[in-house]
Amino acid sequence: MNCIILGCANPAYNNIGVRVRRPSTKAVWAPNTDAGLCAVHSTQGVLVTVFIEETNDHHVETRMCGAAKGAVLATSSITRRMLITKEA
Ligand SMILES: [Zn+2]
Repeated sequence: MNCIILGCANPAYNNIGVRVRRPSTKAVWAPNTDAGLCAVHSTQGVLVTVFIEETNDHHVETRMCGAAKGAVLATSSITRRMLITKEA
């Protein structure tokens, strides 16, 4: 997989993930996306824009877009165990 940054053909060894945390900081869900950043773009700084829409299908779908490169889609299930876990 190549870096998600437009114009960058470097290998993306650093995966981009998203996470929702409870106040205790324990994750409710934290799937990796199918997009990543190269070593250069992982450390020099990036602009991240987050746009969230609700669904009711117990999945987390991510759409990562690196400027004009097009979306990289990934879907993860929210397991029942995650939903019934109480606050620590
Ligand atoms: Zn890069």
